[in-house]
Amino acid sequence: MANTIQAIRGMHDVLPTQTPKWQFVEQQLREVLAAYGYSEIRLPIVEKTELFKRSIGEVTDIVEKEMYTFNDRNEDSLTLRPEGTAGCLRACLEHGLLHNQVHRLWYYGQMFRYERPQKGRYRQFIQLGVETYGMASADIDAELILLSHRFWQRLGIQDKVELQLNSLGTIEERAVYRDKLIAYFEQQPELLDEDSQRRLHKNPLRILDTKNPAMKVLVENAPSLIDFLGEESKAHFETLTSRLTALNIAYTLNPRLVRGLDYYSKTVFEWVTTELGSQGTICAGGRYDGLIEQLGGKANHAVGFAMGMERLLLLLEACGDTTAVKPVDAYLILVGDVAEKAGLVLAEKLRDALPQLKLQMHCGGGSFKSQFKKADKSGADYALILGEDEVNNEVVGVKFLRTQDEQQTLSSAELISLLNK
Ligand code: ATP
Ligand code: MG
Repeated sequence: MANTIQAIRGMHDVLPTQTPKWQFVEQQLREVLAAYGYSEIRLPIVEKTELFKRSIGEVTDIVEKEMYTFNDRNEDSLTLRPEGTAGCLRACLEHGLLHNQVHRLWYYGQMFRYERPQKGRYRQFIQLGVETYGMASADIDAELILLSHRFWQRLGIQDKVELQLNSLGTIEERAVYRDKLIAYFEQQPELLDEDSQRRLHKNPLRILDTKNPAMKVLVENAPSLIDFLGEESKAHFETLTSRLTALNIAYTLNPRLVRGLDYYSKTVFEWVTTELGSQGTICAGGRYDGLIEQLGGKANHAVGFAMGMERLLLLLEACGDTTAVKPVDAYLILVGDVAEKAGLVLAEKLRDALPQLKLQMHCGGGSFKSQFKKADKSGADYALILGEDEVNNEVVGVKFLRTQDEQQTLSSAELISLLNK
């Protein structure tokens, strides 16, 4: 093995045994999104570095230390997207989709962050992103939470995730809070770790988001932003929580929940599980009205969320998910030259008649015994057997691999009606 090339650390293959689970989950998500009238948008994986610096912000983990940034042959600085919100907004501005219009969009794909790989944290990972534009009122914030809740219901994990909610108010309200927060932390500067000291004047809210257990008490006793909200922000938040209550969606108020970035305003939320250790957030989002102007558009409204697909699949696994998708229904055994030739014709005939049938045809010859072993291993329910005798008599032998039923000899019409069941 010494000479073989391995995948890059933190970037994983999804092997054929795992892809059925992914496809199943993806299908559920797509159906729910369609049921709420959301449209897919497909975006480039590489964008100008400037886009992320301007949107995510210079003083964030992502921009400070997690981006895969490189110069292309033209010396332009490009970055593998670390998230999708910026690119989605860039595309909508570029194509003029935001003039007096309302949009409900989703995208799905690989994101890249140079992080320390561990369970639920990778350097290449997949997000489902959902973004809405042009809607100011809290109904759309509620709709996004309901939509994500429906995902969990579909996947049977609604009891394994908790909704945490907070409001970040407006930029002005945050400015007042920011000063109070800096003053609070400055009373005990010795308790701040190195990251937090650096952030104290640049982005003190982000300190609340620390993952350092040594700072837990300090952060818990900090003033709460929710106490600094003005009337309008409060009313928006109350509309949201009353909608959720009316629909029986439980939530926990978490005053420490900050998305740390300047462009967030009002609603922020996370769906969190206790089943995955410290990588417990499977879905996170909020309102980011300010970002559109920040990227050169006219003042407008935006709310969205992003979901970590690997964490979602890990959670399903932890909950004992047993969705098994059978890769093959029937395996066609072909013994001898004559059968090999006739087998191709038969296989195509079956596929014409039964578009849903998953039929695998044996290739490469070999004895009946060795082919039969392969049929069994394929997971198929039926072994279809074609030898010279069957070809001459225009029949097919059928062996039932998962039941005790007797072997049968059928015409192709009879075979089609059997497989159709
Ligand atoms: P965390 O606090 O766990 O680092 P984050 O705040 O950086 O998360 P977001 O940028 O909000 O995460 O991304 C939304 C979701 O994408 C996360 O809740 C998580 O499920 C997933 N995610 C983020 N980073 C990774 C990663 N490196 N590997 C796998 N999933 C990730
Ligand atoms: Mg992170």
